[in-house]
Formats: sequence, C-alpha cells, structure tokens
Amino acid sequence: MSDDRISHNYHQPKEQLCKKEALIGPVTAIALPSFAEHESCVSMVSKGPWVELTVNNTTYRHLLFDEGGTIHGFDQMRDCGKRKAKVGHELRDLWFFYGGRCLSFAAIDMKIMLSPKFSSDTRNPFTLLKTPSGKMIRLSDWIWDVRALTFVNECSDSDEDFRILTAVGLSHNTVELWSFTHKSVDSNITPCCLRKIICGDRCITYSLSFFGWKEDYSIRTCLENGIDLVVATGTVSNEVLLWSVLDNEEGMEIMTQLASTDPTCTVIQKKIHHRLSGHDGVIYSVRFGCGGKSLVSTSDDRTIRLWKQEGISKELGTNTFETSIDARMLKDQAYNLLWVGYGHTGRVWDSCFVTLPTENNLTLSSGAVASVGEDATIRVWGFEDGREIGRLKIHGCKSIWKIASNFSGNTIITGGNDGISKLVDVRYLLFSNPSLMKRIFLPADNIEISDNREVKHEDDKIPLQQGKVKKQKKIKTRQHHKQVVCGINFYPSKPSADAKVLVATRAGMLHTICLNSGEIIVHGSWAKVSSLEVHSHEELIDSASGTCIAMHPEQLSVAIGNSKGQIVVCSIKDFEHENRIVFAASGYLAIQSLQWLDSLNLLAFHIKGICVLWTFTNSDIDSVHGKPQIRAILSLSRDGLVAGIPKSCYFDKMKNELFIGDSRGNIGVFCLGDDAWSGNVIYAVDILSFSHKKEYVTGIIPIANGHGIISAGNDGYIHQIAVIRNQNGRCTKLQSIIRKPSQLSGISHIWQTNLNGNPDSIVVGGYHGNDYLVYSMDVGQLISLQTGGRNRILELSIEFFKDGLHPTAYNAAIYVANKNSPNELLYQSNLHSDTRYEYSRTAQFSLGSPCHGDTIFDIAFCETNATNEALLLSGSNDCTVKLHKVVHNGLSLVTELPPHESCIRAVASSKDISSNSSLLVVSGGKLISTFYRLDENRDGTFQVTFLCTNKIAEKSSIDQRMNAVDAIPLCGTGLVSHLVLLGDSDGCIHMTEVSEKIGQPCTVQSYKLYQGQRPILSIDMRRISDKFIAACIGNTGGEVALWVLPGLSEINVSFLPRAPLYSFKANQVGTNCISMDILPSNPMSSYNELMIACGGDDQSIAIFELQIDSYGKQASFLEMASIGRKYCASAIKGIKIKYPMVYATGYDQRLSIWSLNPVTVQSHDRLTFLSSSPIDIKDINCLDTCSFHDTNGISREFLVAAGEGIEMLSFDINICKASQALKNCDFLLVTVGAGFSSDSGLPTYETMPKSYKDFCDPIKLMKETEEFQRYWSQTSQKYAETKPHEGYDILGSWCGGGKLKNINSWWIYSSNVDGHFGLYDCFSDTICEIHGKATEFRCSHGIGVGANGESRYGWSEWNAKVNSSHITRACRELTFPDSAEALDVDKKIICKHCGVPVRPNILMFNDTDANILRPISKQRERYQEWEAKMEDEVQNGKKLVIIEIGAGAAVTAVRDEGEEVFKDCTERLRKNESDGEVTFIRINPKDFSFHYSQSEGFIPIKYNALRALRMIDQML
Ligand SMILES: [Zn+2]
Repeated sequence: MSDDRISHNYHQPKEQLCKKEALIGPVTAIALPSFAEHESCVSMVSKGPWVELTVNNTTYRHLLFDEGGTIHGFDQMRDCGKRKAKVGHELRDLWFFYGGRCLSFAAIDMKIMLSPKFSSDTRNPFTLLKTPSGKMIRLSDWIWDVRALTFVNECSDSDEDFRILTAVGLSHNTVELWSFTHKSVDSNITPCCLRKIICGDRCITYSLSFFGWKEDYSIRTCLENGIDLVVATGTVSNEVLLWSVLDNEEGMEIMTQLASTDPTCTVIQKKIHHRLSGHDGVIYSVRFGCGGKSLVSTSDDRTIRLWKQEGISKELGTNTFETSIDARMLKDQAYNLLWVGYGHTGRVWDSCFVTLPTENNLTLSSGAVASVGEDATIRVWGFEDGREIGRLKIHGCKSIWKIASNFSGNTIITGGNDGISKLVDVRYLLFSNPSLMKRIFLPADNIEISDNREVKHEDDKIPLQQGKVKKQKKIKTRQHHKQVVCGINFYPSKPSADAKVLVATRAGMLHTICLNSGEIIVHGSWAKVSSLEVHSHEELIDSASGTCIAMHPEQLSVAIGNSKGQIVVCSIKDFEHENRIVFAASGYLAIQSLQWLDSLNLLAFHIKGICVLWTFTNSDIDSVHGKPQIRAILSLSRDGLVAGIPKSCYFDKMKNELFIGDSRGNIGVFCLGDDAWSGNVIYAVDILSFSHKKEYVTGIIPIANGHGIISAGNDGYIHQIAVIRNQNGRCTKLQSIIRKPSQLSGISHIWQTNLNGNPDSIVVGGYHGNDYLVYSMDVGQLISLQTGGRNRILELSIEFFKDGLHPTAYNAAIYVANKNSPNELLYQSNLHSDTRYEYSRTAQFSLGSPCHGDTIFDIAFCETNATNEALLLSGSNDCTVKLHKVVHNGLSLVTELPPHESCIRAVASSKDISSNSSLLVVSGGKLISTFYRLDENRDGTFQVTFLCTNKIAEKSSIDQRMNAVDAIPLCGTGLVSHLVLLGDSDGCIHMTEVSEKIGQPCTVQSYKLYQGQRPILSIDMRRISDKFIAACIGNTGGEVALWVLPGLSEINVSFLPRAPLYSFKANQVGTNCISMDILPSNPMSSYNELMIACGGDDQSIAIFELQIDSYGKQASFLEMASIGRKYCASAIKGIKIKYPMVYATGYDQRLSIWSLNPVTVQSHDRLTFLSSSPIDIKDINCLDTCSFHDTNGISREFLVAAGEGIEMLSFDINICKASQALKNCDFLLVTVGAGFSSDSGLPTYETMPKSYKDFCDPIKLMKETEEFQRYWSQTSQKYAETKPHEGYDILGSWCGGGKLKNINSWWIYSSNVDGHFGLYDCFSDTICEIHGKATEFRCSHGIGVGANGESRYGWSEWNAKVNSSHITRACRELTFPDSAEALDVDKKIICKHCGVPVRPNILMFNDTDANILRPISKQRERYQEWEAKMEDEVQNGKKLVIIEIGAGAAVTAVRDEGEEVFKDCTERLRKNESDGEVTFIRINPKDFSFHYSQSEGFIPIKYNALRALRMIDQML
C-alpha cells in the first residue's frame, strides 16, 4: 500500500495541464488604494489567487498567483509621493502581493484601466515581475505583512530599473529585510535577503503590523528623520508584542548595503519593548493609528481593544490618520489600554481606523475604529470611550474576514465568505447608531382598578382534532396598578422632528407623548362612554379590556378595540367632549387588532379567523351619532378547521380584493363584490395554507404589476404569491411563486419602497439576534435598533429615500413594561434628510459575484443546447441553491433558486437531448427533495420553475439527510420524465419518477427501493440500453452496489429488482464519490463495458470494469474486475471518469488527472497519474466536469471543484486525444516548421530581419561575397551554439527512447535549417531537411549553373572563373562542418580543393545548384520510399500519427506535405474499408485552418511547440 502512495501528488509537472479559469469564493484581502491618475474610489479585492481591480465600475480580474495559493494581503510601493517605479521605459505603480509563504510583484498601469477604450478582455493593466526561474518568491515561513520601505529608482547600473528594500513580517515573530532588483533586459526580479531580525520572544503570531520608516520619505529625508522601524505582533498567547526591527543606525547600515548590493545576510536578535496583555484569546489583527500613538487589536475573545501611548492626551482621536510621530518614540513610551469594545457575538477578524465627519449633530469625536467578525456585522466604535456608535449587517454570510479604509478614512471596504465586497461611506455606518436610544417613563396610573380581578388571556390554541386535550386557559390574577399599554401610534405618521405618539392603555387611558421634549399630555379615559348612545343591546365598554388601537388615516381620531369585541372611535381633537362612538359585531368577541383600510373602512381582527369589515360615512366619524355598517364578516375557516388569529391584511381597492394572513401561516383572499354589502359571513375564495409554515403572517403588500402579493412572516421569509383570475377578472386562486429568506429570524414589518419598478425592492423589519433590523432585500441592513427584547411593542414611522433603498428618516418607539419600576418608552430617531446625509447609491454598494455564505456540498453541470457554455447548479449548507452560467472565461450568477427548507447535500440535473428543458433536483436535510424545471429560452436566457417536492416523512430530524442523488431521463413516449435515485443517511435508497410537466401535484411520492445498513454517500447512473439503466451506489462502509433499473417511463414498481445485481467492496471506508462511464463499444457486441471509478475516505481511487449485457428483459451481469487502485494524499471527495480520463479531488486541495491505459497493459499499471493542479478553495466536497467549445471552436474540458467556494479549471481535451493517438501509433511522421525552431530561441521566418531575405539570394554571394559569407558564418555559429530545446528530447524519447510502445518507424520532415535534428542519433537517418542545413558549408562552384547544366543568366563571368579552377569530387560531395576547414584568403572563405568561395548548405531562393539539390532529393527519395511502405501498412490496419509542429501558413511546404499524407491515407482507408487509423495533430498557437474536408482524425492544439509537446508527453 505504501509503495506508490501519494508520491505522485507531489509531482510538479513542467507544464501545467490545467489553466485556472475562475474562482468565486471568500474574499481574502481588500484595499482601497489611491493611484496618482485617479482620485476617486479604486478597489482591490482578492479571492484565492485572483485579484480584482475595480475602477469606475469596470473590473479587471487577474490571476496573480499563477502557481496557485491564496492572496492574503497587498502593499503598494510609495516613494516621495511619486509612488511609481520605472519598469522598462514606463513609470508604473508597483505592488506586492502575499499569501501563505509566497510573495509576488506586479506593476499596474492605471492608465490602461482608465482608458475609455478599456475592455477587460483585451488589455491587461498588470505586468507580473518574476524571478529569473520564472517562479514566485517563496519564503521560509508564513507572511503576515509586507512593507516596501524604500527604493532606488533608475540605478546607475544602466540595465537595472530599480532596487527595493522590503520588510517582510513572518509568523514566528521574525522580520526579514529583502532587496529586490529589477532588470529591464529580462524584466526579472532578483531577490536577496539582507537581514533576518528575530524577536527574543520566539512565539507563534497570528497577526503583524509595521510602523515607522515613513514610506513617503525619500532616502535623504529618511536619513534626516531617522529610519526606525517598529513592529506589533499579535500572538497565540493572547498578547500584543511591540518591538523595534531597526533603529536609526541599523537603518542607515542597511541602506548602504542596499546601495552596494552586498548580498550578505546577517541575523540579529531583538528584545521586546512592550507587552500588551488583556485579551482572552489569540490576536487576529493589530493596526497602528494616530501616527503610532494608538494601536487597535481584535481577538478570539470577541472584543476589540484600543491601546494608547502613555502621556498622550485624549485629543489624539481628532485625526486617526496623522503621521507626525516618528517610530523612535514608540520604544520609550508604554501603551495603556484605553477601552475594550464588547458587542461582537463571534470572533473579531479585522479592524481599521476611520474618520467621521467633523461637524454633525451626533456629537461624536472625529476618529473611530471599525471592526468586522464572525457574526457578519460591521461595528464602529467611538475613539475615546469605545462606545458602539454604529452597526451594520450587509453581508449574507457567516464571516466578514477583512475591513480596510481608504486614505482619508471616510470610506471602508469589507469582504467575507459570500464573495462580495461592500464599499461603504462611513457616515452610513452611523445611520444605525444603537446607542442613540432615549427613554421616557410613562405616567403613573391615575385610574383605579379593583384588585384580584380575573383577566382572561385569549389564545388561539384551539384543538384541531378530537382526542387532543384542550389546553387550559390561563387564569392570571393581576394585582399591580400600572398602565399596560395596548397600543401606540405615531402622529403625524411621517417621521418628523416633533414626533408624537398616541398611547392607549388597556385600563382605558389615552395620552400623547411628545418624543423630543418628553412632555406627556394626558387626555383621559377612552373607555368613559357614559354620555354616549350605546348601540342597541351592546354591553357597556369594559374599562380595562383594551387590546389594540388604530389611528385614523386623517389622524383626528383613533379606533380602540377591546377583548369584548367592542370598538370605540374617539376624536382626539375633541377628546374632552367625549366625542366618540362605540359599536360591536354581535357574537364576535376578542378583537386582536384593528386596521383602517382607508378613511372609511375599518377592519377588526377577531379570534377564530374572523375579520369584521366596518364601513363608515364621513359623518359617522365626525359625529357622536355615527353608525358604521358591517359591510361583511370574513371567515378564514375552511373545511371545518378553525383558522388562527388574523394578523395582517392588504386591500386592493380597485379590484375589491382583500387578502388576510393569520397566525398559522395561512393567507386567504376575499372578493368584496356587491354581494359583500349584506353584512353576511363570506368565505375566502382561496386559502394558501401554511405559506409561512405555521408562523404568523405579519404583513402583506402588493407586487408592482398588480398580479400578486408578497407576504412576510414570523418564519423570516417573504413569500411571493400570484393571484390567478378568471376571464372576468375575478380572483380564483392563490399560487405560491417563490419563498425567499431574509436575513432576519422573524419579519414583523414589510414595505415596498418602489412601487413603479423593481419587485425586489422590498424592505423588511424584524429581529436578528436581539436587534431589530430594517433590512433591504437588495442592499442589506438599513436601520438597527437595540430594543432589548423581541416581545415588546414596536412602532415605526419611516420614510424611504427616492431611490427606494436608503431610508432618509425614521422615528421608532418601543414600549417596555417593567415589573418593579414605571413602564417606559424607548425612542430613537434619525432625521438626516438634510443634504449632508443625503444618501446616494455610493453610500453602500456591492462588488463581485455572490457565492454561498457557507460550504457547498454538491454541484452539478446542467447541459444546455449552446455549444460554448454550460450551467452549473450548486447547493450549500446554508440552504441556498444557485445556478451559474459557465463560459470559457468565468462564472456568473444566472439565478438563485428558492432556498431549501434545510441544508443541501446533493444536487443533480437531467436532460433529454431532444428537449429544451431539463430537470433539476435539490435534496438534503430532513430528507426533503425539491424538483425544478429548467427552460432554455430562445434568447439564451434561462428560467427555473418549481415542479414538486418529495418528503419521505412528515417529521424527520435535521440529522436525517439525503446524502446523494442522481437523475437520468427515461425513454418513452409523451412527456419527458426522469428517474431520480436518492440515498439517505439511514441507508435507504429511494426511487421516484418525475416528469417535467408544470402544475403536477406539489408533492410526489417515492418508492423505497432498498434499506441498507449504512448511510449512502454517493450515487451515479448510466443508461446501458433503451430499456435499462445501471446505478452505482456507495455507502459509508466503502461498499458499492450495482443495480439495474428500468429505463422506460411509467415505471411499474412491482417489477423492480429487490436486490442489487452485484455488490463489491470499493474502499476500506466510505465511498464518498462514484462515477461511471461506458466504453465506446463494438456495435456488434451485445454487452456494455462499464467503467466505475470510486473515491473514498481511505484516500484511494479504485477503478472497476464491468461487462453487462443490454438485451432481453433482464440485463445480466457478465464479469467484473478491479483494474486499479491508487492512493492520494487525502480523502477523495470528488471523482469523475470520462474514459480514458479520470479526475479526482479531495481535502488535499489538488485536482489530479489520471488516465486509464488500454487492456493490453498489466492491470497494476492501468491507472496512470498524469498531472495535478492546486485548488485554492478549502473544504472541497465535490467535483464535476463538462466539455464545451472555446472561442476558437476547440473543445475544452472544464473541471469544477466546490467547497468553500467554487473553482473552475480547464484544459484542452485535444492534448489527451493527441497522446492517446500517439500511445497506440505504429508509425510517426513529424513535420516541423519554423515555430519548432523558435522555441530554442531562434528567429522564425516572420521574425527574421528583412536582410535575411537578401542573403537567401545566391546573387549576393557573387556580388558581395564577404558580406554574404559573414552573415552565414554568424548564422551558422548561432545555430551551432544554440542548444536544441527540450522538445527534441521529447521526440527522441518517443521515437528511439521506447516511450511509444508500439512504434515501428518514424520520419522527420523539416523545413528548418538549424540542423538540430541531426544531432540526435535516432533521427540522423530518418530526417528529410527540405531546405538543407545552415550549419554546414560547401563549395559553391555549382551555384551559377541552371537546372539543365547551362550557365544561369548573369553568372557567365562567375562560371568562367569557376571552370578554370580544379573542381574535384570533394567539391561536389563534401560539406564543411564549419568555415575553419576552408581556407581564409583575403577574408573570403574558399574551398580548399578548388579555391572557389564556399556557400551555406541550404536551398536558397531559385537555387539550382545541383550539389545542394542532389542530397536533398536523395533524402526525399528515402523518405518517400518509407512513406509508400508505411501507407501500405496503414491500409493493412496499422496506425499512423502525423504530428505537425510550428509550421506557419506563410511557407506552406511542410503543411502541404502533412495534409497530403493524411489525405492519401484517409482515402485509402475509406476505399478499402480498412481498420487502419490516421491522425493528424497540428500544433500551432495561431493558425490551424485545415484544407481537407475530412476533419475526423484532425486534432488541432493551440499552444507553442514546446508547451504542447510537454503536455502531450506528460500524458503518455
Ligand atoms: Zn571546390
């Protein structure tokens, strides 16, 4: 087991097979940098190895850690305010990026980003500066902070652009000083460690921050002002340590060393200056502020602490960004704890200093500290006393990891697990200032209530069915004499500075409280009705039974309801004269709440699902003699069941429709036609049951288009409901469209802020923890109120800003009933509607594509009809499901599906190729599965529609889960249906057939196929014939069961198998993932060859091969064999087999690629490791693959791994195809052009100087012999000196080296003249160099002779001279390896046999020299002889591969030859119906047009020669 264990995972391929395409996941570093060219907001955000730079709403995404890894921070090089470094001929902003142990440099050209023509597809503002080895810089330890100290620009040494001195803070309380030298020649960075400074206190640190050595000082000013550098480190032992890295002298020393490039590295040990104790947990961040006079630290202990330098006055808070102090001071002055900020309910990850506006009416100091943490809140703390002065919840995730402010501190940026960065105006943070709450004590009771009265508390817990014991009603004896408030209303209703609230007490008092002044106006008793005309037989008002109030829309009167079912309407204006009316609906008791639908219609909510609608005339309200009419009595009861208490309503006046929601989550719709005037009981036209589970429906609002409503509930969800109407426009039905969670645990208010437009501009109010939040579904938190408890009466008056998102003003009043002290009213308001606080959209906005807020458990590709895109479904532990569009350069969100009731563990999609729609399955916690239909619209958009759900049990625990699911289309006539197989945590396999029909019953049943002993972990299905489907199911014991299931629709469950066809042990422990593929089989064969790949917790990949027949009624199993097992570095969590490729990934954060060798190879070697790529997201749970075409029309394989985010890689499938063809080939013809040669560093025809063409003319030899010979000597020398690149070795290993097991013979057909192939023994006899070799010379006596032996035009004089010389056989046959063998007479190199000048041994333009042509045609004859024989053999069943490398379309000789051979062979094979094969591999980065209609067997590869060969070679 240990022999081949994991070693292959550390194999670093020379050429990375996979290209990183996209990553959506946690934000790991953020900054709001300033660039000289651009004053407004530029944001820099990193996710994994990627950096996203956003300017003016344009984002450029760049892969900075191209070797993988996660960027955790960055720093900008600054110098004398110029900030730019010379890179090549340009001045650029220079940036450091660090993460893990890696450090990377990039120069950014902001001008590119700001150019109006900038398009993120075409221009790249990043220039990566690499070490000479081409690798990133790797340090010995984890990097916590990097500070560019100074740099020398335009050094005296002319080829040097700049030299930077950089301090790098490492995790063992160590700082290293590095110099990085950049040379313009090769644009490389040379790193050199100058000093290692170790703190005497060796410990593990979690955070580090530098201070001092002002980055804006030039070297000279540094020397004048001192160049001390201090560091603060946050340790795992709960302390912050401050120590000096460099003092002034040492600083100067290092400057001298930097200037002289002395590479010695010295090690220095330093002592700690200050030790700051107090935290009760590890320190996650330390930041210096106020010019080093203060320090902020955040910790595991959920606190933030501010430390202040001793002897500094409190006023330091006036500017947190001042830079006056120098680091020397820090050593001498101790730091004291100024305050501790409590409030975060989780770990505090990061903090920063911010600046508040100087003049505002909130009387805040102008400096503050902001922090973020695990509780997903952003909090602002007052600088002087640590008061929490602002709190925001605008991220939909668990953790916010990072916060940073801009240079002036008035804008912050935050980033967390949801993959989104939020840019926030600091003033916006103050909008929700929880400490602004005022309290007003309510007046003492002045109405006597007799002792020991019984008060009945009505409740709605009426038994639903017989047999249930009716709950005993609570009888409570009340003995206190305090006013119990039964309702509070604001007036005026709009928020204003002189806001008042009307308060009614249960005991019958009414008073007005002026919130600003605190003045209380006692109106008197609302229950005093002695002088009134009481209607008919109604009882007198009970003076201690008030339950609710409702201010009339005109705010001149108020309606008060009581527990006896009576309503009093009192005039407030004319209160003393007891101008009031009393009325009641006979027989309907206990009013719970009242709501004015308009100024003449009042709805009274009684218990038992009853609402009474009262209609007034204007005179009714004004007069004590008014008589409202009962317009209708509305009952939510249905089918003998009693409804809950009505809680909310919405009245559509135009359509006369009334929607009522109750305390049990039901929503009913009533049509108030003319017949509703009778005062009779009318029933709901339709009731949507449990629309908010069994929780209160707390609000109903209309949808903008008028076709539906949105309800809010105490379950924390909003529910969009369509109103279905008949032809007459009469409402007939309510239909649920979508349920969506808010960030609140329960919603109590809902507002539609923009009736004209966006249906998503919903704002909700409710609780999150103990805070009451007003939360926009679009942008996040708007207001936060610390109410101190959930059960208090809260009244809000709120006005939204024009854009419908940001509230401009609100008043909030909360009633607090105290036990032993007077009751009180808490009051908070924010009326910043003035211009200073006018919020624009820039007050708070989002950047980036959203990810799930928690771990993703499963993903599934959904096929589409488009050839260059696919869809990806992802489901997360946070119950959310997203559908992303996958294109060749990224992932973008298409839509979010309705959230699942419980966590999601498995998703699947299934598509019938004939259909434009497909099935989506989402399943997980509580054994619930939900089915959706995905439609592909003609315009390329997609639509998801809910189909139905499947619940195994009505009551299942959260621990019972569906762990695995797969779906596959069923054959059959009629509507497309799918077989869905589900595996649960109890070991049960469920089967269900789901059609794509919309409008089927909301719940579908499933059939219990099998009950096993162990939880199911993985399922995969494949069709094996028209009638049968094979399913593989893996469990926690590593056992895999193979089932054969019916493949036709309308499955008859009585014919299902009772047991699997075959079971086998695939892994030692849990088979986490499973994948099947069917081998391309012989159509004559009656069986299928199935390949099964299993990945397990035992860290192994196991492959099984299986033969299964596919005819007859029952598929039968023929043979099964284990064909390979390989061990990896961690548990395998995702596996995919696409014969012959196998892909796997797991906790080791690598994606490995394997290939399955043909059966001829011994079983042990059948699974070969090819390559692996790092994955930069954590907690990987799943893998899926998909192939589609890139913009060049070349098919690429896209591999997606998901966990704490989603990462997508891709590679060229043709690389695999090419290697597969090569593995099996008998003959190899390699045709090469200049592109092959150029990878050795030699120029190609295109890149040659123009003079090259001149020197290819023989006439040049005659006319300018010296110049001609000098040129060719130099060229010859260059070719001879240049080392052939690795591609020659690779070809050598294929041909002579035995790497291709089947190869019989090979030839090279080359137009190159570098002679490099000739240096390899295996090619010396099998090369056809059609243009000769420039590394050789020969006698030129034949250069002037034409093809027929006559003297060429213009050459007669030359020929006459030559003919007088003594031409020997050697003159005709010999070549000189170099000019040294010839004689140098008067600088002309002449043939030593005859004295004629020598010429290069190449075919020049119009060359007719027989001495050149003869050997070339001799080679060609031998080649053609081979070719003829080879073609015969191919016709007899052998396999030929033609591999064309770097042959440009400019000179077509090489391209023509390869295509010609391919064409000949293909035609011969077709004519003779031969089994032989011919494959044409064209490696060319640019031009792969193919001039032959037959494209089968043609494999274009879009890479440079060497890169392509390396990749192909890796796969052999
Ligand atoms: Zn000669």
